[in-house]
Amino acid sequence: MSGNTEARGTCYWFGESDKRVEKILESQGFTLVAKDLAQPFKFEPESTQLYYFSAPATPSDDIVAKLASKARYGHTVIVRSGHESKKEWYDAGADLVLVDDMGGLFDHLLSFALSTYDERRHWREAEDRLTRSNDDLRATIESLEIASRRFEALFSGLPVGCFTFDSHGLIHEWNGLSSSIFGIEGYQAFLNRVWDILDPDFTGVWSQEIVKKIFETGEGLEFDWKFIRDDGETVHLACKVVCMTNKKGEVIAAVAGNLDITARVIAQEQLEEQMRENRNYLKVMERQRLKLQEANRQLRRLAVTDGLTSLTNRRRFNELLEEVLDRAIRQNQTFSVLMFDIDHFKSLNDVFGHQAGDEILEQFAKVLKETARRYERPARYGGEEFAIILDNCDRQSCLIAAERFRSAINDYHWPYRAVTASIGCSTFSGIESVRDLVEQADIALYASKKAGRNRVTHIDDIPREAREQKAA
Ligand code: GH3
Ligand code: MG
Ligand code: MG
Repeated sequence: MSGNTEARGTCYWFGESDKRVEKILESQGFTLVAKDLAQPFKFEPESTQLYYFSAPATPSDDIVAKLASKARYGHTVIVRSGHESKKEWYDAGADLVLVDDMGGLFDHLLSFALSTYDERRHWREAEDRLTRSNDDLRATIESLEIASRRFEALFSGLPVGCFTFDSHGLIHEWNGLSSSIFGIEGYQAFLNRVWDILDPDFTGVWSQEIVKKIFETGEGLEFDWKFIRDDGETVHLACKVVCMTNKKGEVIAAVAGNLDITARVIAQEQLEEQMRENRNYLKVMERQRLKLQEANRQLRRLAVTDGLTSLTNRRRFNELLEEVLDRAIRQNQTFSVLMFDIDHFKSLNDVFGHQAGDEILEQFAKVLKETARRYERPARYGGEEFAIILDNCDRQSCLIAAERFRSAINDYHWPYRAVTASIGCSTFSGIESVRDLVEQADIALYASKKAGRNRVTHIDDIPREAREQKAA
């Protein structure tokens, strides 16, 4: 041990100096701190120390009291005294009392006391460590208990139906809301398999495969599902499964939280139904709108069309004539009007019947349409009278066009008997009204009749004094 100067501890030295012992202690690694024996004595509270009393006298009451106190615990007390005080010191609790005449035993006993000191120090340190780890353990248990209480409070108080299950699908926890959502009490669920409890029809929502997948992947799951309770009510649920892992990252349990979304699902279903109905209603409305549109179109067409021949009727013809006249004035142009009257039509009716007359009228309209240019629109003016506006057309062109129609009528293969028509023409010179033009064409038509029928006459070719109105 000699030469070992490693710090071993502190030695509080009380009383007379003893160079030889002091040297031994210092060589054994102790730091000596001199203390006055006359001062009140006290043990240092921390760790373990060595106390050396170099006092031949008996211990003072103060020291005896301190040695008996709790503070003495762990400290090593060595006393150098006289023979007569030895017993009192031992009685007071000294670990070693050294006296004179010990010879070689003195050093031996001293070193034995020092090893006692070492042992005590080790024990004390071990004890401290144990106390500390005990305290740590207590704190850990306490925080675990708090966490567990908190989890329990959360689990049972959550507004979500929660239950936990292990890798075999066995249910371990089942909170209050699960009971009311599923209509199944905790004691009915505990240690039963999740699929037996929640999927009795084996629809696959909760199955062995799903549980297996959760525990294999450790990723949890999210899905919407529905549950039919024993009372027949269907609850719609949004479920989220979260995995709980141990320190090694292995999934040891899963928590399933189920939010009751029945009200939302029903509202959505109703909304969808309503929307479906609305869509159908819209379809019906659209069909009716189309029908109405078509009816209107038809009505408009009928209002301007002659029923027998499908030609423009007299009303529309007059409108068109107004439009053409306005445009002719604006653009400083001319146009002509042709009036047709079928010759001896009355006798055709009389001989072949009214039906045959109608047939001839229809075919007459057809001949006019086929002979007309794209911009020439024939109209039925009334009875067996027809009319055509020749836009942008002067007297000369108008006569050519009228002749084209007359010969077409004349050349047509008529049923029953030959049919001809007389034609009267008038041309806008910039001053006439619609009425004037129709009247003039009528006068010209009457002139054609008078001249022997099946011919064309232009108003301008009738001297003013020879113009006669058609006999009423
Ligand atoms: P013209 O003109 O050559 O002088 O002799 P017309 O026999 O044609 O004379 P009028 O103009 O007097 O006779 C017209 C006849 O046309 C009288 C009427 O019965 C007949 N008529 C008028 N509208 C229709 C019709 O829609 N259908 C039939 N079948 N006959 C009609
Ligand atoms: Mg007539
Ligand atoms: Mg006639």
